[in-house]
This record gives sequence, C-alpha cells and structure tokens, in this order.
Amino acid sequence: MRSVNKKKGPDSWSHFLSMSLDRLRDRGLYRQLRLIDSPVAPSVTIDGRPFLLFCSNDYLGLANNSRMKAIAAETALSWGTGSGASRLISGNNSFYCNLEQAVTGFKETEAALIFSSGYTTNVGVITSLVDRGDLILSDALNHASIVDACGLSKARVQIYPHGDIDALKNLLDGRPATGKALVVTDGVFSMTGDLAPLPELDKICRKYGALLMVDDAHGTGVIGPKGSGALDYFNMDGQGIVQVGTFSKALGGLGGFVAGSSQLIDYLINYARPLIYSTALPPAVLASNREGIRIIQTEPSHRERLSSLISYMRDGLGRLGFQVSPWPTPILPIVIGDVEETISIAQHLWDKGIFVPAIRPPTVPQGESCLRISLSALHTPADLDRLLMAIEDYYKKGS
Ligand SMILES: *Cc1c(COP(=O)(O)O)cnc(C)c1O
Repeated sequence: MRSVNKKKGPDSWSHFLSMSLDRLRDRGLYRQLRLIDSPVAPSVTIDGRPFLLFCSNDYLGLANNSRMKAIAAETALSWGTGSGASRLISGNNSFYCNLEQAVTGFKETEAALIFSSGYTTNVGVITSLVDRGDLILSDALNHASIVDACGLSKARVQIYPHGDIDALKNLLDGRPATGKALVVTDGVFSMTGDLAPLPELDKICRKYGALLMVDDAHGTGVIGPKGSGALDYFNMDGQGIVQVGTFSKALGGLGGFVAGSSQLIDYLINYARPLIYSTALPPAVLASNREGIRIIQTEPSHRERLSSLISYMRDGLGRLGFQVSPWPTPILPIVIGDVEETISIAQHLWDKGIFVPAIRPPTVPQGESCLRISLSALHTPADLDRLLMAIEDYYKKGS
C-alpha cells in the first residue's frame, strides 16, 4: 500500500484509488468485467456479441449439463437455497456426507473434507498445517490461492524454480534442524498446462520427512485412466499425500475439497478456519457436485471427446509451427514471448469473435507471454479449425 498523499479525509483515499488505477492503465494491466449473457458453453454472448470461447475451465461441459441442472433444481425445491450456518454449528447435512464419501472413492483416500471453494481450501489447509518455525517450499508457478495461503501462514516460505527437483532437494538439505516442512505444488499447472513431477516429489518428500500437498484443481476429472487427476495419471496411490481439488472446473459446480487420511481430515475439521468460520454450501450445490463425480466415473465419453480434441488442436498448432506441450491436458498455452505481440494476436482473435486470453507478466515470467487456449469437450473440430485459421490469418497479414 503506497501512501501517495499525507492529507487526511476522503480526498486522499480517492487520490490513492485513482493513482493506483492509473498505474495499472500505464502498464496495460487495467481490467474490466465483461458481461456474459448466456450459460457457460463454447459459444456465448459477451456484451451483446457472439463469441467462441477458449478460456473456460468447464473442461467436460458439465456446468450446463442437464442431469446436473435437474438435480440442483430438485434439491433446491425440497431443501431451499441456503444452509443457515457453518458446518460445525448446524450447516452440516447428508449432502455433505454423500459428497465427501464420493470424493473419498474418487480420489481413493480414507477421508475428504469440503470447503466453500478451492481458494479457501488452500487457505484452510496450509494455514492450519504450518506455523511459526515451519517451512513451506512452493513451486514458482503455483496458483495464486496457494501463494496467498502461504503468505497468510506464519511459516517461512521459499519458492523453488518450476518443477526443479534438484533445487528443492538443496532447499530441503539446507533447512533448519527444527520445524516441519510442507512442499506444495499444483498437480496440473493452471497457466502452462504441464504436470508437476509428482513421483519424484513424493520420493524426495518421504526421504526428507516433508509433507507433500498437491492442488489438482485442473487435473481433477480430466486426466488419468479414471479421470481422477495427476496422481491417477502417474499411477500413484496418494498414500501420505494431501490432495486438494475443486468442484468449479471439470466438475462443473462450486466448492473445494481436500482428500487424505482420516487423521488429517479430523485435524482440519478442528483447525481450518475457513471451514469453522464460514457458512456451509447450499444443498443444491453439494448435490450437483456429487452428480459431477458420478458422471465422470460412469461416462468416460466426455473425457474421450476432450482427449481427441486436445490431439486435434495440438496437431493443428504444430502444423502452424508452434511448439506445443506434450502433456494430455486441456490447457494449451502458445508462447509468443513479446507482450505487445501477444496482445495484438489476442485482439485480432477478439475482433473475429474468438476469445483467447493473453497471459502476461506478472502471471508468467518476463518474455514468456502466451495465449492460453483451454478446450472443452463441447467444442467441435470445426470450432478448433476456426481458431487455427484465425491464428494463421494473423500471421499471413504480417501484422
Ligand atoms: C482455480 C484454482 C483454485 C481455486 O479454485 P476455486 O474453486 O475457483 O476457488 C485453486 N487452485 C488452483 C490450482 C486453481 O487452478
């Protein structure tokens, strides 16, 4: 918080706000809310104009699935819209128990605990597990909710370079003799779409007695033979690992969860402040989240369709000369490098009614600005062709 003016009263606050906003405008980072006038889908209406979206996290198209909607609607009609209190008071119900049991089965752990969002799950888990005198080792590309949770904890935080096992090992070698160590990483990284080296991380954490926490918000429902995420992809059993995920992406709903041992969950019920001091989710949300898991477990066709679209897009981008990541995730960043160029391509696509977000520093490192394409099982090959042709067209025009 820079103080821009020592003058007291409302004027100085207004001055502070306008200076802060101007600073963003000067750097091209000023943002405004857009109005999306239709349900989540590849084709939407934004500020009155039709757009083809390549930016949503609704990877399987479940956010507007008819069974999900029917269950949410029926549950709301019989159980109402609110839960009335936090879970430890009177907000707990059979919808929570059923959903936690489903998560436990899906992630193959002893127990699970639901939070109001993925963000508050990370805050609750990290701030309750570590304290003053402890150490958190966090991947450089971890999601903002992990970064914020680390900042809220009283532990010392060290950032290791993205996916760098040797650097992590050095930090663990040099750690103080006392205090606990928590290693935290995204499973699938949200901006780059790559996977954390989980087998190696697990091995090194065991060796050093550190606890491994994996936030698989983007992998859950999408990758691995069972679709349960990055650990499933690597064929790991998750023993001793704290697994975080969210219902808000492939699962098409809202809420976060942590899965692990019964002892861990018992601990979190007693210590995680976002669970204790925030109102429970409405039954309708819990019921449709439960249906999302059921759909993923019983209808592999959604995942298969997504997977063939990922290959199709990867081939198309390869033909245009882009280096494409080999990971089987629906996040396909194309690195442009230069900020201005990245914005100019995104603008060209926008003008053609295609929304692909330009990701710039500080979200990615300097010189690594990219277009972050994310795919949904509801896209068609024709949708992808439209995007590929629009990108090709940009380069043909020699802009
Ligand atoms: C989106 C995301 C979250 C936050 O989840 P919400 O349910 O949207 O709050 C947490 N971690 C990662 C890695 C994410 O991508």
